[in-house]
Amino acid sequence: MEGLLTRCRALSALATSSRQLSGYIPHRCHQCAPGRGQQRLLLSRVFQPQNLREDQVLSSEGRAGDLTCKSQRLMLQVGLIRPASPGCYHLLPYTVRAMEKLVRVIDQEMQAIGGQKINMPSLSPAELWQATNRWDSMGRELIRLQDRHGKEYCLGPTHEEAVTALVASQKNLSYKQLPFLLYQVTRKFRDEPRPRFGLLRGREFYMKDMYTFDSSPEAARETYGLVCEAYCSLFDRLGLRFIKAQADVGSIGGMMSHEFQLPVDVGEDWLAVCPSCSFSANMETLDLSQKNCPACHSPLTKTKGIEVGHTFYLGTKYSSVFNAQFTDAHGEPSLAEMGCYGLGVTRILAAAIEVLSTEDCIRWPRLLAPYQVCLIPPKKGSKEAAASELTGHLYDHITEMVPQLRGEVLLDDRTPLTIGNRLKDANKVGYPFVIITGKRALEDPAHFEVWCQNTGEVLFLTREGVMELLSQVQVV
Ligand code: ATP
Ligand code: MG
Repeated sequence: MEGLLTRCRALSALATSSRQLSGYIPHRCHQCAPGRGQQRLLLSRVFQPQNLREDQVLSSEGRAGDLTCKSQRLMLQVGLIRPASPGCYHLLPYTVRAMEKLVRVIDQEMQAIGGQKINMPSLSPAELWQATNRWDSMGRELIRLQDRHGKEYCLGPTHEEAVTALVASQKNLSYKQLPFLLYQVTRKFRDEPRPRFGLLRGREFYMKDMYTFDSSPEAARETYGLVCEAYCSLFDRLGLRFIKAQADVGSIGGMMSHEFQLPVDVGEDWLAVCPSCSFSANMETLDLSQKNCPACHSPLTKTKGIEVGHTFYLGTKYSSVFNAQFTDAHGEPSLAEMGCYGLGVTRILAAAIEVLSTEDCIRWPRLLAPYQVCLIPPKKGSKEAAASELTGHLYDHITEMVPQLRGEVLLDDRTPLTIGNRLKDANKVGYPFVIITGKRALEDPAHFEVWCQNTGEVLFLTREGVMELLSQVQVV
């Protein structure tokens, strides 16, 4: 964040000399950053490389002429991501802020059901994968490498093997200690044959993966239900309409599986949805001749979806290979019943932008907006410039009076630009609140022009009115 803060050269010189003399470090400059030591976040300091040429976008996908999608285009235009190599992107400051918020919401949901956060190595030894035969069966999707001694590894595309071996390494586990719900949020690596659509299908991406260990099939099914509920709660909190569809178990294997899908045209999965009851399924799992709902016999409808989450009930498929066992109530050894549960963290960000945005303007789930508020002071040299300092005062007042908005307010200090141009940019980036110091700031009392993105309203509010409005804002 330091790069975004207002800095005063005189102040840093003073800080250096006073540190040398007395150890005293002044924490603010009264001229540049007034207001109880709060420093202001300035838009001009945000690292936001934009203006990528069309051919640069396409080459990031590994071939020219590939289709692109709205979220990828908007994220590139606004400077949220930058291509690095096919399927790999730099995540820029706004994206990292949104992702950190998403991870906080995920943490809250996972920890509410007893999840414990861990972090496993990405460098995954071949023996683990050979034990389950996935070293061969995953074929070219695994990114493989060797260390200097010739020992083979892959870069983890998922962690069933690693986590099961980890739990198996704990001896003398008792049924009384179970269930364990272990999860992580880490980078995953898959040599996707066709990385595309920006963060929707990358070769390197963030996933939240949870692995659960229970003492009986009944307990494991209960855990499965709990994690599914937590996923529903997550998407509800993000305001994203989703479909929970029955799914194929694929290369991960197991006995039961559901996908969480966001219905949208750019999605790569076809879903069959029953309009009358809650049944829906990925069409891969259905008999293709099936036209009616297996539950209520109504005609099924088809829709496309982006898979944002996946849940599997695995049984003892992995625990039997690595001998992940515990002592049951009779003192006998018994294999753990497992489940695994993925959420595509970077995919959720892009998919949310895909479903919520217009063609020209990014819209975020409210909780994930990188900054909640953007303040726009008058253009330099304009009539309203007489009210310029009100913006800075408002900034300080917000961060002082609305504690949850500290670090959430950005000041668009590009005052050579008109208010209109800066408002257009702000609208494109999608701040939930844009507050302009315009003509009516010259009135007594001053009125600010407040653009509220989720209601579409434009309000004229006094400073107190602004405070009342913003104090309602929820931040994770
Ligand atoms: P897909 O069918 O889209 O290739 P998958 O079924 O192989 O995905 P899982 O192994 O179930 O994916 O991974 C869990 C989650 O990780 C997925 O639900 C998805 O949200 C996310 N994910 C998977 N592959 C990618 C990718 N290449 N880029 C971004 N996110 C991904
Ligand atoms: Mg899947």
